Amino acid sequence: MKSSTELGDSGDDKPRQIIYTPDEDKLSEECGVFGVFLNDPARDAASLAYYGLLSLQHRGQESAGLAAARDGTIECRKGMGLVGDVFNTDTIAQLKGSSAVGHVRYSTTGSSCVENAQPFVSRFKLGSIAVAHNGTLTNADVVRELLEDAGIGFISSSDSEVIVNLIAKNYKKGLEKALTDTIKFIKGSYALVVLTGDSLVGARDPNGIRPLCLGKLADQRSGGGWILASESCAIDAVGGEFVRDIEPGELIIINKGDVLSFSFSEKTRRAVCSFEYVYFARPDSIIDKVDVYGSRIRAGEILGRESAVVADLVVGVPDSGVPAAIGYGRATGTLFGLGIVKSKYVGRTFIAPDQAAREKAVSVKHNVIHREVQGKRVVVIDDSIVRGTTSRRLVSILRKAGAREVHIRVCSPPVRFPCYFGIDTPHRKDLISNENSVTELCKSLGADSLAFISVAGLLESLDAGEEKSYCLGCFTGEYPIPVSGEEA
Ligand code: SF4
Repeated sequence: MKSSTELGDSGDDKPRQIIYTPDEDKLSEECGVFGVFLNDPARDAASLAYYGLLSLQHRGQESAGLAAARDGTIECRKGMGLVGDVFNTDTIAQLKGSSAVGHVRYSTTGSSCVENAQPFVSRFKLGSIAVAHNGTLTNADVVRELLEDAGIGFISSSDSEVIVNLIAKNYKKGLEKALTDTIKFIKGSYALVVLTGDSLVGARDPNGIRPLCLGKLADQRSGGGWILASESCAIDAVGGEFVRDIEPGELIIINKGDVLSFSFSEKTRRAVCSFEYVYFARPDSIIDKVDVYGSRIRAGEILGRESAVVADLVVGVPDSGVPAAIGYGRATGTLFGLGIVKSKYVGRTFIAPDQAAREKAVSVKHNVIHREVQGKRVVVIDDSIVRGTTSRRLVSILRKAGAREVHIRVCSPPVRFPCYFGIDTPHRKDLISNENSVTELCKSLGADSLAFISVAGLLESLDAGEEKSYCLGCFTGEYPIPVSGEEA
């Protein structure tokens, strides 16, 4: 995660600037993947993939890429920035072919540069493949070394490039065997979409840590087809119909309109990332049969049950805190209001010329509606506290706006441990809950009271009545996959 960084030094004549990161108090999204296979080979799939990527933009804003396959050849375009900045009608028109994959990236391994942008494409004697990956491989270094020892070169520092090189290396065994051999070799979290000359492939790691779902295009104009996407909101965005989630350890091969499913792993414990529901995913998505919006409402209701406080108003920190505030209000009978406003047009970072300007910039991302909170005892519902910076600022601007009391309620348990499965977390020492008790943290934020949802409460908010299990690693330190240096 990028935190505030100073640019320039006293030795040059450039002004000293501070890159201000308003979202530094959040875990950073990972990546989003999208794939489309149209049944009519005369149609182009790239524009549909572009719309799919636009709807997954919340999962990564550093780079975007699209690859399309025609007559066994794969063309790829990618660049730094938002989907709308990287692509225009001309670049999309250059990508010919009836199947395509796309990727939006926020770097978790490898630096932020165009070499690390995805999809990764490999062209070799037997064909071409393009790979888009969401997740983090825990054994990427070992696999990379083995491939390098075998004379295979790399162009990036991304862990995802080992996947494309492994598939290419195994390709002479046939697509299915190349894929299963690759997937059995890699460890960690992955939701993959892979494009070959004539197939679209999807795969989800044996624990299903990162989401991936299947959709269908029934539109007669496009001749129908299939979609793979990180979230169901992307299927909706291209007019598709949600079919089902890809199962943990499942490989899907879509070829000539047929959808073939293979299981490539022993049955393992399902461990979907619980943070997808708390913060990462869009509220209009459904992941593993649990609707994200509903889970946030339930989290608020449970917080109300676990840690109600007498107050005049409950407000949510946009965006994901708002449904939870609605739930808290329902459960406690507290009036719900829109007391905090978030600017949608401030990017991930912006430049403040000096520290004083940075202090003043506190309200650039979030501001308070004064008349709503003035003289009131206010409960603020946030999705998470990572470093504590946003919460501290919010308490301060709420008090300045005349709030009589400020009580913080958080719909995830304290984040105490790093994530190794595709989410960018600060160093352990920068996780404020790792260093402080809830009482100490409350004092440091300047709030009148502070409470987090319990782990049992979070699990209850995710339970759609089925036997399910989730990754809770960053809350409990118990990871679904052994992590070197961490107790499993
Ligand atoms: S450690 Fe946390 S953020 Fe990472 S996959 Fe598990 S629940 Fe998600």
